[in-house]
Amino acid sequence: MCTLPTYQHSNVSIKNTFFKKKDAFLLFLCLYKLILKTMRNYIKIFTAFLLSIFLSISINGYSLDLDIRIFSDYKIPTFTFTAISGKYLLIANDETVLEIYKNNPLVIAQKGEKITISRNNQLIGEFSEIVIQKAGLVNAFKINTNIKGATERIYDDELHVHVQNDELYLINRVELERYIAGVVQSEIFGSSEDVDFFKIQAIIARTYAITNLMKHMPEGYNLCDGVHCQTYKRRCNHSNIMMAVSHTFCDVVVDKEDKLISAAFFSNSGGQTENSEDVWVIPTSYLKSKVDTFSLDMRNSVWEKKILKNEWIGYFTKNYPWVKSIPDYEKKLITFEQPNRKRYIMDSIRVTHIRRDFNLKSTFFSISQEGEYVVLKGKGYGHGVGLSQEGAIKMIRLGYNFEDVIKFYYTDVKIVKYTDIIKY
Ligand SMILES: [Zn+2]
Repeated sequence: MCTLPTYQHSNVSIKNTFFKKKDAFLLFLCLYKLILKTMRNYIKIFTAFLLSIFLSISINGYSLDLDIRIFSDYKIPTFTFTAISGKYLLIANDETVLEIYKNNPLVIAQKGEKITISRNNQLIGEFSEIVIQKAGLVNAFKINTNIKGATERIYDDELHVHVQNDELYLINRVELERYIAGVVQSEIFGSSEDVDFFKIQAIIARTYAITNLMKHMPEGYNLCDGVHCQTYKRRCNHSNIMMAVSHTFCDVVVDKEDKLISAAFFSNSGGQTENSEDVWVIPTSYLKSKVDTFSLDMRNSVWEKKILKNEWIGYFTKNYPWVKSIPDYEKKLITFEQPNRKRYIMDSIRVTHIRRDFNLKSTFFSISQEGEYVVLKGKGYGHGVGLSQEGAIKMIRLGYNFEDVIKFYYTDVKIVKYTDIIKY
């Protein structure tokens, strides 16, 4: 009778010891993983910090500040400004009103033609316009609003605020390279995290920015933050993007006459890019159609759409009634092939118009009939002019570098420093 408990006790005891050892091991493993993860995060943060310092140092020789209107899609009656890095000065009427330190938010609101500023529920003053000027090495701030989908955003450098057209205008005065990094992060396209892929995006975004510096000048700033210009919703905190921006510092794309190009891009060519004149009427020396096998076998390489035959034929007879005078016009409208890209169906109906009217992914499609439907089998996604994003991703995967990709998709172009072609 007394051996059993001893045995049980002993067995349990062995089991417990085993579990204790196993638990200790698991605990050690968890701690080890946690430490590794934390270290990786710190390394990432530290790298990002070093790169942002590098960006500020490398910019000093050429400093080009841009005025970007942020929250341009919204009307903001009031918001909160909080410094999260560096130090700021509130300037109004050319005088320093106060110093702003980290995590001490200001509430900024519109009051008619004026701006009111308060802190800790105390009114600081009422001004016509204000500048929240940077006074540290790496400066960043966050803006909080009550706007759904845009409640908090973080930006680099400075904020200027004034009332215009009966609303607050928030202008982020930001150094070009930091703005480019923010655009690349805001517009991340494709599924690549590769530095060379981000270099392509950085060069395209920089080329666009330099080309369009005067776009919003009549309204008092350079560019807006919406799709009208380039999407810019935040400061960059992605180390690969920062690295890509610093590696391509000042790089832009020019044509054979050293003119900045219009660096059009889209998702996937389906195997052949378009001539600019076939889509936008105006020909350019660098936006030329070419066979692009890199865009095959990617996510957006092919598509299919079924449309009722009556609807399809009805569209043409309504919008292009002259087709009815063509013999066998119905047959011709449902047996269309595009081994290579074509500009027209029935010799004069632009495929770009059909894409627009039927909301098709591309103009690169063939047509056949299946019962009471016509089936459009398409290739690619997007307008097809310039650089194919998925093709670029494939090229990078295959070992091409960013320069190879840019020179493949844009004909007869060079990558140069904008400081060499623009004289101030
Ligand atoms: Zn704009």
